[in-house]
Amino acid sequence: MNQAVNSAAAAKPLSGRVALITGAARGMGAAHARALAAQGARLVLADLDADELSRTADELRAAGADVASVAGDITEAGAPEHLASVALENFGALDVLVHNAGIMHDFRTLEETEPASLEAYFKVNVQAPYALSRAAVPALRASSVGRIVFISSQWGQVPDGHSFGYMTSKAAQLALMKALSKALVADGILVNAIAPGAIRTRMVPEEAYEMEVAAVPLGRLGEPEEIASVVAFLASDAASFMTGETLSVNGGALVVGA
Ligand code: NAD
Repeated sequence: MNQAVNSAAAAKPLSGRVALITGAARGMGAAHARALAAQGARLVLADLDADELSRTADELRAAGADVASVAGDITEAGAPEHLASVALENFGALDVLVHNAGIMHDFRTLEETEPASLEAYFKVNVQAPYALSRAAVPALRASSVGRIVFISSQWGQVPDGHSFGYMTSKAAQLALMKALSKALVADGILVNAIAPGAIRTRMVPEEAYEMEVAAVPLGRLGEPEEIASVVAFLASDAASFMTGETLSVNGGALVVGA
């Protein structure tokens, strides 16, 4: 019986690997955590929202996952180094880093956007993943299967003429992903991004659903699990010959003439 259980665990594609996910309390981040845990990964979950993070961590533990959680702001000085050390102290390794935490809080036009307001977006969406990547690189180098996955956005690929802080920071994430993939390829660390279209999370207010769906040829919003499955792919051996790439997962939104 025990042998059967052990061989079932060993058969999971991410068995034994350690993944650190930011913004993991809810929405897509929580879905990535469930998907990676289902494939056997051990998890370090980080989020600003302590209560929601602890509920998500408890749910995963109840399902049998090994989870450490860290509540706090990833933009704070020392946070990246602390997160990397939590992975090493709890699990002795760090194999997969998922930059998922992000903010999007305005639909302002050019005239409405104060230049200074871009700073908050760049702090969370660009500087924090840069600092965390840098802090995690020694551990990722020590891993034989090091991966970094960015959750960027369709709006980082094709801007929509508003939300200047969000769109430029999401495009900057894609540039950062490519720069890291080049800097780290010799170490065998593979760095890729996903550019989701409109996904049903708290980031998209219900009032905006109709407008968002109108721009999706598949005729619906995506579900967080439909991005999480791609994160699991990028973290797995199935993606062992990919780096510096962006996977567009958007219900066909970029298909010309769809
Ligand atoms: P969400 O708002 O539900 O989740 C974001 C999580 O990040 C929250 O739990 C929040 O507390 C956390 N977070 C924000 N700032 C943080 C900080 N400074 N430190 C620690 N944690 C922080 O949104 P979501 O839709 O699940 O977003 C996940 C990612 O997907 C984001 O990067 C977002 O930009 C991106 N994205 C979302 C959509 C969409 O339609 N929902 C589309 C494209 C890309």
